[in-house]
Amino acid sequence: MVKNIIPTGIFLCLIISNIFAGKASEVRHHTSGIAADTVKKNFRYINTNFENASQLDWEIDSAGVVHISLNYDHERASPNQANGHWHFQVEAEAGSEVTLTLNNFDNVWNGMKASPVSHRTNCLVSADGITWTEIPTDLLPNNSLKFRLHMTSSKMYVASVEPYRISDLDKLIREVRANPLVEVTNIGKTAEGRSLEIIRVGRKDAPYRIFLRARAHSWEPGGNWVVQGLIRSLLKKDAAAFLKRYAVYIMPMANKDGVARGRTRFNTLGKDLNREWHLPADKELTPEKYAFESWLIKMVAEGKKPHLAIDLHNDAGGNVHINLPTADNVAHTERIKRFVDLLYKHTWFTEGPAHVKNPGSFGEGLGARFGIDAIVYELNYEWIKGLKKQPFGKDWELLGEQLRTVFYNYFDGKNVY
Ligand SMILES: [Zn+2]
Repeated sequence: MVKNIIPTGIFLCLIISNIFAGKASEVRHHTSGIAADTVKKNFRYINTNFENASQLDWEIDSAGVVHISLNYDHERASPNQANGHWHFQVEAEAGSEVTLTLNNFDNVWNGMKASPVSHRTNCLVSADGITWTEIPTDLLPNNSLKFRLHMTSSKMYVASVEPYRISDLDKLIREVRANPLVEVTNIGKTAEGRSLEIIRVGRKDAPYRIFLRARAHSWEPGGNWVVQGLIRSLLKKDAAAFLKRYAVYIMPMANKDGVARGRTRFNTLGKDLNREWHLPADKELTPEKYAFESWLIKMVAEGKKPHLAIDLHNDAGGNVHINLPTADNVAHTERIKRFVDLLYKHTWFTEGPAHVKNPGSFGEGLGARFGIDAIVYELNYEWIKGLKKQPFGKDWELLGEQLRTVFYNYFDGKNVY
């Protein structure tokens, strides 16, 4: 063996100099069997150097399969780790086919391991980052996903759900902010210093107020598409009647740092922005919650407490999470039942309610501390039953458009407060 007679450092130098001299085939048998020529011809790189890209490691095996190890998102002071998101770009020769596997789906949730992938897990691809299509995947026994990517372009984006980036939100804000029915207010900054905003659509003195928050969990873009659909629909010419009755206040992207960095769940300091709502927000560790609470306290002081608050998420269930009915929340339960009935009637929602008991949840916490009817709506990221299809941004935008009619009928004066 060559290794026996030449010191390791010199041996590596020989390999490297041979590769750079175009002699990769001569050293192929020394490089763990990886066919360097084949790799060089078709596959070039996994690019994660762009907005909302997932951080990951990758390696290519002897068959030319690219194995991607997704990085977990870790919760502070907890064994919890989460990964259910991917967004990266494959660079390879146009017209070629690249086989990839996605790994590291051993999430830990409340001390239990749980994989977020199933036979229903979607994988979307796009040449331009704007138009996305779905490709089939194989779920392997070790909870890896394997798929073949046909390179219709030399650079192809791959994502778990249709992304909605900070730049998409910035574009929306530029589009609507000059409208006299819109007010965009900066309410604070994220842990990394990104600005947080509330977008009001409608009149300040509207009789009813609805608050919506999106993107507490950074990989869950469904809520962003919903609020974009809602905002645009409320600024259409036919929306005057809606805005006579109510105004919406929207915090469109709570976990902006996580979105920028392509993380799965927690804020940049490892805190879950959908927990501990039964306590005042921690200014240092959760400035994103603190900014919202400060805004809310001001609204309450001005006599403008929201009549309804909705926190938009993605999961594999698609339910509206509502507080467990109890003896002391009868009126709240009755109102939310009306709301869910209107969702069935006016939107594609069919998944139904799920009752939760969690004092730290957005629903129970805001109810207990501020007396606000608050719920979490989990948009199913795998399948929309009511539309019989995989969800794309435009499907969630449609839900947002349909919500304007739900709110209009919900605030018909029959609710008892
Ligand atoms: Zn979530």
